[in-house]
Amino acid sequence: MNELTEAVEQAYLRAEHHLGRVFVRPHVRLDLRGQRAGVAYLGRNLLRFNERMLQDNREDFLRQTVPHEVAHLVAHALYGGNIRPHGYQWQKLMVEVFGLEPRRCHDYAVPERRRTHYYYQCGCPAPISFTPQRHAWAGRGRRYQCRRCGDLLKFTGKLQFA
Ligand SMILES: [Zn+2]
Ligand SMILES: [Zn+2]
Repeated sequence: MNELTEAVEQAYLRAEHHLGRVFVRPHVRLDLRGQRAGVAYLGRNLLRFNERMLQDNREDFLRQTVPHEVAHLVAHALYGGNIRPHGYQWQKLMVEVFGLEPRRCHDYAVPERRRTHYYYQCGCPAPISFTPQRHAWAGRGRRYQCRRCGDLLKFTGKLQFA
């Protein structure tokens, strides 16, 4: 987190130096999950970053993703809410302030969703894995039948975190 807030601060100092004005620092959170590396919440002056992607792509993340998201907030502070997120104002900041190619998307590998498998058994030798959603429905009384042997599937009590 220190490295991240430091990179955010460096990006702001750079923007202030180039643009000759000060910007209110955003809140920075490291609680983003899923497919996006970072998200800038313009109205709330908030940046959320993806911790897993930061860990897996540290150098590039600090060098590219952080300025990318900071540029969104800076563009918002400069031009208000009626600009396109990756429009020319944002692109200009990326190129002129940060010296970066104004790429719209990160190209990190998207981490696979971690999910829990719940194992159900019927008359067949191999257990069948249920998703958390399906397991929840079964818990609420929905009945599932094996397509091969026709038995009702019963929860084995076993689960696995993949
Ligand atoms: Zn963006
Ligand atoms: Zn079966």
